[in-house]
Amino acid sequence: MKNRRVHLLVVIVALATAAAVVTFAPRGSRGQSRTSKSGPPSRVKSTVSTRPGNTAAASSTLTAAAARNQVLRDELTWTFGGKQQRGWYLYDTLLAETLDTDESPVSADFADAVTKWQKRRGLSATGVFDENSWMGMVAYWQGNRLKNRTTATPDQLVTAPPGDFYDPSRAAELRQVERATYDAYLKMIAAASDDLKLSAKDRSLKIISAFRSREYQEQLRRKSPNAGSAGLAVNNSPHFTGRALDLYVGGDPVDTKDANRAIQVNTPAYKWLVRNAEKFGFRPYFYEPWHWEYVK
Ligand SMILES: [Zn+2]
Repeated sequence: MKNRRVHLLVVIVALATAAAVVTFAPRGSRGQSRTSKSGPPSRVKSTVSTRPGNTAAASSTLTAAAARNQVLRDELTWTFGGKQQRGWYLYDTLLAETLDTDESPVSADFADAVTKWQKRRGLSATGVFDENSWMGMVAYWQGNRLKNRTTATPDQLVTAPPGDFYDPSRAAELRQVERATYDAYLKMIAAASDDLKLSAKDRSLKIISAFRSREYQEQLRRKSPNAGSAGLAVNNSPHFTGRALDLYVGGDPVDTKDANRAIQVNTPAYKWLVRNAEKFGFRPYFYEPWHWEYVK
């Protein structure tokens, strides 16, 4: 058995050497794209790749990385907001956008995109989202968020009409939004309504919550003492700025349970935001699919 393995290794090394000499035309198709990102993984690709510039050895490394990602996507144990988390499958859509790939998260092509990202971030270029790389991705997303969290002054706020809200009966003082944020939101919602063909009755992307005063945040926190630090920030909520919007993306509007977020991250509204919100100045909070921050 062992001898056969050694023999196989020799063949692979020989193939890799041969392949390294041959340069492929920089044309090949990107393979079958848009395989289901959340569904069960399709079989990983064969060892010998016809993708441009890839040696068989590199391809074999990517195939192994893809197999590892397939396990870690569901099972990686990590900690966020004082809570233990399991896997990174809830972030497939965000990952696809950040890594600029349409490939299945358990494919060799995805691992290739991970490798490129790791190199850019100065991380070990394994193609695998293990704990170290994954926490690097979390830090990257967190680093893109609103930095200045100064509480908005009254003159910086406008009161948005009830029709913009998920709950139109929301009191006027709870419908305040920072001016520039509200302008950007209106532009974004117009584009989304076109693209998603939202009917007048559809509550997708309506505002659940925007500006919150410190007093109101404290009330909310008292109502859900178990929300944890990933949930309701006590001293430093981006909602104090009026530039953070919780938008309805489906499911239970603001529930961080994995099962709920699994629904939210697969809705057309959420997927649209991930692809388009940045153009309007909004960036995500990766952990809460509904929470977006205006960073311009
Ligand atoms: Zn929020």
